Amino acid sequence: MNKTKKFLLSEKEIPEHWYNITADMPNKPLPPLHPGTKEPIGPEALTPLFPMELIKQEVSQEQWIAIPEEVREVYKLWRPTPLFRATNFEKLLDTPAKIYYKYEGGSPAGSHKPNTAVPQAYYNKMEGVKKLTTETGAGQWGSALSFACQLFGIELEVYMVKISYEQKPYRKMLMNTWGAKVFASPSDNTESGRKILQQFPNSPGSLGIAISEAVERAASDENTKYSLGSVLNHVLLHQTVIGLEAIKQMELAGDLPDVVIAPFGGGSNFAGIAFPFLRLNFQEGKNIKCIAVEPASCPKLTKGEFRYDFGDTVGLTPLLPMYTLGHNFIPAPIHAGGLRYHGAGVLVSQLLKDKLIEAQAVQQLECFDAGVKFANTEGIIPAPEATHGIAAVIKEAQKAKEEGKEKTILFNLCGHGYFDMTAYQDYFEGKLSDHFLSEEELHSGLKYLDTPKIQ
Ligand SMILES: *Cc1c(COP(=O)(O)O)cnc(C)c1O
Repeated sequence: MNKTKKFLLSEKEIPEHWYNITADMPNKPLPPLHPGTKEPIGPEALTPLFPMELIKQEVSQEQWIAIPEEVREVYKLWRPTPLFRATNFEKLLDTPAKIYYKYEGGSPAGSHKPNTAVPQAYYNKMEGVKKLTTETGAGQWGSALSFACQLFGIELEVYMVKISYEQKPYRKMLMNTWGAKVFASPSDNTESGRKILQQFPNSPGSLGIAISEAVERAASDENTKYSLGSVLNHVLLHQTVIGLEAIKQMELAGDLPDVVIAPFGGGSNFAGIAFPFLRLNFQEGKNIKCIAVEPASCPKLTKGEFRYDFGDTVGLTPLLPMYTLGHNFIPAPIHAGGLRYHGAGVLVSQLLKDKLIEAQAVQQLECFDAGVKFANTEGIIPAPEATHGIAAVIKEAQKAKEEGKEKTILFNLCGHGYFDMTAYQDYFEGKLSDHFLSEEELHSGLKYLDTPKIQ
């Protein structure tokens, strides 16, 4: 056992502002387009779905946005989160690299998601919203928002991807405990759901379909708004508390990362840890490499196209300029449910296009192997999503060993896996496999896109 190295901040050091990377981006993100006319839309088009304060954040060019005191107060329940040096994991890997991780699994819902669920519920409450709808894949986002809505006295309706609804009954029970109503999606509550069920009665569902249902419900009721757990600019903004804290903690450790790594679903936990470090690249001439890690079975960043696409399957959302596999791409049912999304956040997509960040894809078995190695040395059992980052950390650590170079790696341990033990069980029983996408599968969603391509 090596000496435990843990870097803690006091409550007073919870950031007072979120960092808005838009202010520093060399190429600003392109505007969203109307789903029907395909003309650029302004912020007012979003008012049926979101409260004004979040819409302002969505389009803001201000570098720093103040975190409301009420939100900082709730953050104190689990923030500042700890940062560790993974000394035992380093030893197992026999690497000259120093490996640090920021642990976001200590929040009530067990992941980084409450960092944005709380401000979203707060702003909705301030603007008199009575009810929210949302979707959830693996259940992480649904449970985070259930917790936040319960705190602020807002009703919540969650559309949970059917396969997860069946595989993860305890995630559903968390949401119920925090007072939310949960429906397996596709459901017959909505026209979108009914349409899919008619075509595919046994549909396992997808995040794209669940988004269509939640958006439809919100759009058709004046007192109901919609909330999204990733992808959008304001969601990524809220997550920057992770990286802002991590910068201070790395200072305490007397170190600065050469590489920052995080798993990638829609981009929120990646942005959360990476954007504040990218600010150091933009403003202080640092050269920190930020790597987003996606599953090989849903490789929008490494194999998708950069073009306008819908955020949902049915095509109700504005068209967003992003890396995508096509809105009707249905990813293989891998266990990292939170990463099974066809698209990517606009900010992250633009940064990738401009080669300011990097992306990698990893296979499922390699991820679980990495997760078990990490659990055996550092104790925490990572969420299946988080194991993607860990697999990439191992590669970087091995590279450092081959090159005989010191290197400092920081990764985001964005959630624990204690509600995902079936996934680990399947892995131990040899039931999981890797998934190699054929060209045909890869184009199964892209070939239907008639939305504008971006040069
Ligand atoms: C939701 C989730 C993800 C994926 O979403 P991002 O927005 O890309 O962060 C990854 N890990 C965990 C633990 C999650 O809950």
